[in-house]
Amino acid sequence: MERLILVLNAGSSSLKFSLFTVRTAGEMDAVAVGQIEGLGTAPRLKVKDGAGERIADEQWDKGEVSGHAQALQRIAGLLRSRFQGSVLAGVGHRVVHGGPDYAAPLLVTPEAMRRLEDFIPLAPLHQPHNLAAIRAVQEVQPDLPQVACFDTAFHQTQERVAQFYGLPYEYFERGVRRYGFHGLSYEYIAGALPAVAPAIAGGRVVVAHLGSGASMCAMRAGRSVGSSMGFTALDGLLMGTRPGNMDPGIVLYLLQQEGMSAKQIEDLLYKRSGLLGLSGIGNDMRVLLASEDARARLAIEHFVYRIGRELGALAAVLGGLDALVFTAGIGENSARIRELVCEQAAWLGIEIDRAANETGGPCISRGGKASAWVLPTNEELMIARHTRHLLAL
Ligand code: AMP
Repeated sequence: MERLILVLNAGSSSLKFSLFTVRTAGEMDAVAVGQIEGLGTAPRLKVKDGAGERIADEQWDKGEVSGHAQALQRIAGLLRSRFQGSVLAGVGHRVVHGGPDYAAPLLVTPEAMRRLEDFIPLAPLHQPHNLAAIRAVQEVQPDLPQVACFDTAFHQTQERVAQFYGLPYEYFERGVRRYGFHGLSYEYIAGALPAVAPAIAGGRVVVAHLGSGASMCAMRAGRSVGSSMGFTALDGLLMGTRPGNMDPGIVLYLLQQEGMSAKQIEDLLYKRSGLLGLSGIGNDMRVLLASEDARARLAIEHFVYRIGRELGALAAVLGGLDALVFTAGIGENSARIRELVCEQAAWLGIEIDRAANETGGPCISRGGKASAWVLPTNEELMIARHTRHLLAL
């Protein structure tokens, strides 16, 4: 009987999922990919098969599907009827925070759940939803094994010195430290490099994960040694709606001089800043690139400028640079942004190959001391691989 692994990525108002088939040998294939968005407002389910053909597109009343448990039941119903004769062998979850404890994925137990709940204050906007999805599966199928895969785990290889903020030491002990995120994406890229670019896989590589959330990771021989993100996913680069790294004095100013509440500042920093806030137009890079508006151009310029600054800092951590790798929505799809970033990184010895960049690489440089690459990431497959491995499937 065919065995399946379900991968879940639960957000505050969405539940994304991918279903993989497990073969006796070889890589797993995604046979269904979908999401429910608008939970609590206007829930809508969209599902495609492995070839990208539409399987379902349904809209419901918000009363019908209000939370993750109901969303999961809808997804389970649809997948059960479509994949009759197959058996669900396990569920892998994206869990944003593994705290200081977890450097690897974990089989979920009641004890592990209690520990993961301790990390809710470290990621209050994401961790509760990730854990809610685990509980929702437990309610429907208590015996089904579940695996938690952490966005922070890949960065646990970083040296201790890289993990501090200059606060009194006790804050570090209380968990206020640099963690880094997008770890599943970086782990996937680190795993893909030896086959695609063997000459650089063992070297000093900076990976730029440029999506609606954006960060960069410095890797030495495929292991994380530095990241632009720190305590939360607000740090580092300019993002779709987040400002990235900024002077903490700004938060004090907003609290003390502008009389903003913590909740209002949270909303400003997570939802109203970044490309959206600077441009005043939107957070979709495609829209900004197509716009003639001066503020759209400013937002793009600042986005690229910040990548360049961070690249310099991470190259310093690495003691030089052998390669720059672009991935995620913007990194994989926007030749223009890659070109602007590479031009700015000419001082590091990157010489862009414009024709290769237009066609998407994978190698988009020629000659030069450092090379540049485009590699599609696949966080869902990474979670499925971990789940398969931990469950010995
Ligand atoms: P992700 O979070 O990885 O799904 O990436 C989402 C981001 O990728 C959005 O900001 C999109 O605007 C951006 N994106 C997707 N396709 C393109 C493209 N062809 N050119 C520029 N940006 C793109």
